[in-house]
Amino acid sequence: MKITSDFPGGNIKLLSEQTENGKTVVTLEQDLRDTDIWWFYWCFRIDDPPVGEVEFRFVNKGVVCPNGPCTSVDGNNWCFDKSSRVDECCFRFNFTGEKSRYFSFSIPYVIKDFESFYETIKNDKALKRSVFTVSEKGRELPLLTMGNGSRDIFFTARHHCCESTASYVLDSVVRSILVSYRDMLDRFTFHIIPFTDIDGAEQGDQGKNRIPHDHNRDYTDKPIYNVTRAIYEYTDGRDIAAFIDFHSPWCWGGANDEPHIHMGPEAEPTPMLQYELAEHIKELTAKDARDVIRFNGVITRYGDKANLVGTESSKNFYKLKRNANIAFTIETPYSGNLAYGYTKGQLYIFGEHIAQALYETLMK
Ligand SMILES: [Zn+2]
Repeated sequence: MKITSDFPGGNIKLLSEQTENGKTVVTLEQDLRDTDIWWFYWCFRIDDPPVGEVEFRFVNKGVVCPNGPCTSVDGNNWCFDKSSRVDECCFRFNFTGEKSRYFSFSIPYVIKDFESFYETIKNDKALKRSVFTVSEKGRELPLLTMGNGSRDIFFTARHHCCESTASYVLDSVVRSILVSYRDMLDRFTFHIIPFTDIDGAEQGDQGKNRIPHDHNRDYTDKPIYNVTRAIYEYTDGRDIAAFIDFHSPWCWGGANDEPHIHMGPEAEPTPMLQYELAEHIKELTAKDARDVIRFNGVITRYGDKANLVGTESSKNFYKLKRNANIAFTIETPYSGNLAYGYTKGQLYIFGEHIAQALYETLMK
């Protein structure tokens, strides 16, 4: 058997493999790389696992979420496996003869997942794809634009590269607008940057709090990342109706188990419009009778402890430097508080609700 992180999004440190009472026990640790605080992302593949139960123990605090590890045989179709969880540091998986199996903290999303999504929308005449900029490691950042309206709407994700559930929500918002809210395309031009930290996402970095600062603290007078400089230039002089930055929060627990919104500054010209959008999301998710991800109205206002004044973050930049009418960050949990960990389908429905809420807020 072999444990590897040598694939897009991979992240693991293998510490030991041993046999205890006839059972294989693997000791592991998430790889923090250049993150300067404790963080929790990991993702690995096991090739040629033995048939039977293998125990996986993590040594650097709890990183197995309450819904269990997320697992896949092909790296494309994922589900949380609550039954294999022992505690927050351990899971035991019963292998039945598969050649390989992936395990991850949450549902990963890397460039190949974006390309799969793009395949489903690429023939839409309203959509254009270009290269936004090139990353420090030479990767081309995709930019999607759609519509030809006079005002602009921006969506970004992966300022913190390990926050993968956010990407599924963003994909769904984009598709919903193309499919269900198409008249928005006459009033607005949408600009979508799906991977702000594309190198980190592909390399399987944590990304959060990376040294000297992460991509969502780069909105300074002298940004250090190519993407931030490109955003400064690209957004200059635009008439921005809305900016939404898609994130995932802390690993789990409390408010981190349900979606929440960090509001941008309540600045002119429309200090309260972002609250209206949040209220629409709340109403729409509340009245959906299916087993869906609900936004229950948990927000942190600009100036609260978790949303400090003056942070050099994306939403503050768009609100204060670009006068966006709406500018907020929406956090989608890694696995959530439903009976089982989130599925891609549930993340997509959440995106549909956000798209509809945006429509109801901006098209009235
Ligand atoms: Zn984040």
